[in-house]
Amino acid sequence: MPNIPPAPDLPGARHLHSGKVRDLYEMTEGAYAGHLLMVASDRLSIFDFVLDTTIPDKGEILTRMSLWWFDQLADLVPHHVLSAADADVPEAVRGRAVICERLDMYPVECVARGYLTGSGLSDYRATGEVCGNPLPDGLEDGSRLPGPIFTPATKAELGDHDENVDFDAVVATVGREVADRLRDLTLSVYRRAEEMARDRGIILADTKLEFGLAPGESGAIVLADEVLTPDSSRYWPADQWQPGRAQPSYDKQIVRNWALSAESGWDRASGEAPPSLPPEVVAHTRAQYVEAYERLTGETF
Ligand code: ATP
Ligand code: MG
Repeated sequence: MPNIPPAPDLPGARHLHSGKVRDLYEMTEGAYAGHLLMVASDRLSIFDFVLDTTIPDKGEILTRMSLWWFDQLADLVPHHVLSAADADVPEAVRGRAVICERLDMYPVECVARGYLTGSGLSDYRATGEVCGNPLPDGLEDGSRLPGPIFTPATKAELGDHDENVDFDAVVATVGREVADRLRDLTLSVYRRAEEMARDRGIILADTKLEFGLAPGESGAIVLADEVLTPDSSRYWPADQWQPGRAQPSYDKQIVRNWALSAESGWDRASGEAPPSLPPEVVAHTRAQYVEAYERLTGETF
């Protein structure tokens, strides 16, 4: 089980849930009472452990990135963001909190992959396919796929791994019509984002999206959660892409490498959390998040 610190009390909001990285609240006062407040912390998790060292500004960088992407995608799919304005958000979490419409979430992790790695690679090596998508022979770690594929997963309980499932399992959960929509939306979001990232020298290898049903009559399928952050996506510097090995990535890779190195003194098999990070690893990791944000959005953090 990950060791998640208690979520802070926020005036005008009631704590509902904490994940490894984010704390979820319900607004109890003001214009957005009844809606959700999603707060991104500076926590970082590797190998399903939440580290006791935080990365300064990570919550704010990822929040800004997510908001930027929601905006870029708004013509493809409606999103759940109602406000991230300072005036609407409790002071303690300004800059890293988003007020969102409460949706009836579909219990499907909607993953699109354009490149093969991680659990997709493991499944491919075992079966030649990923979530029922047959793939050509001879692909390696980091290979570009012939086209993007929809590789859904079921959401695991805290501390468990998500499980890849095939499209029929999604149909069985949400029905044919919604399953088709989720797949089509996921692939169109991926295509848009992959192309935009590629123009900026970044490969979007894969990403995980979550959708929900809007309340009321509209029946709209709405993009929720966080989108296209390094916590939900694999971003690789395009100029270093070289299939056949693990790719350098814009996220926690430095931390993972350090934790596994002799220098950390950590034994992964021990079942204990990795030790605190040295300042230079923290600084380097923060710089990676800033660089990914600035390259993608063209804005200065
Ligand atoms: P993990 O640390 O593995 O991500 P987690 O998914 O439980 O754990 P969070 O991602 O922090 O933790 O939790 C956010 C929760 O809020 C998720 O269950 C997500 O599905 C849900 N959620 C996101 N957007 C909305 C929304 N608009 N309405 C309702 N629920 C939402
Ligand atoms: Mg989550």
